[in-house]
Amino acid sequence: MKTIIFATNNQHKINEIKFIVGSQYQIVSLKDAGIDIDIPEPYDTLKENAFAKSSTIYKLTQQNCFSEDTGLFVEALTGEPGVRSARYAGEENDPLKNMEKLLKNLVAETNRSAQFITVISLILDGVAYLFEGVCRGLIIDAPKGTNGFGYDPIFIPDGAEKTFAEMTNQEKSLFSHRQKATAKLVAFLSQNWKLPSLN
Ligand code: IMP
Repeated sequence: MKTIIFATNNQHKINEIKFIVGSQYQIVSLKDAGIDIDIPEPYDTLKENAFAKSSTIYKLTQQNCFSEDTGLFVEALTGEPGVRSARYAGEENDPLKNMEKLLKNLVAETNRSAQFITVISLILDGVAYLFEGVCRGLIIDAPKGTNGFGYDPIFIPDGAEKTFAEMTNQEKSLFSHRQKATAKLVAFLSQNWKLPSLN
């Protein structure tokens, strides 16, 4: 089976992407690959941060790999927290504090529109490609549900009646930004990754 490294330490992202990809490709996490590294995300765009992660792992391993960077862009906050979603309330990346800060900043707002954007950076045979997935929805007033991660308890995707945190992985993947970006990645790989990997 074709194997590819997913350059992340986030177990939730690994579970979601493995679920979406199914058995077509073997997804190898950084931990599975024996790589203990925390790659910084210092840039102002999801694309640059995603590429920083995939290129770091490609340089280390010379193997096909991909990474992703995701942000929650809230309309009434002119796109905040956006690319800084992980550290919105501080460097410790505490999801409860991040949600608390977001809800506080939205307390007087009637416009609750927001979108998650995921950018996947793939490096296949040394060449870099990007794939994007967007999920529009609404930020609710208080967290609901215990599944998922990050901002999932306060986000209801358009077309749904519950938050991502009230959904199973299967339900979330019907709507999610990550699913849309991953579907593009998988379609690209099935068209372009024809030869057996030499890695
Ligand atoms: P990063 O892509 O790991 O930098 O994630 C950015 C921030 O967005 C982190 O705080 C994550 O918890 C959050 N995040 C990323 N993906 C999702 C998601 O699918 N649902 C909810 N929050 C997410």
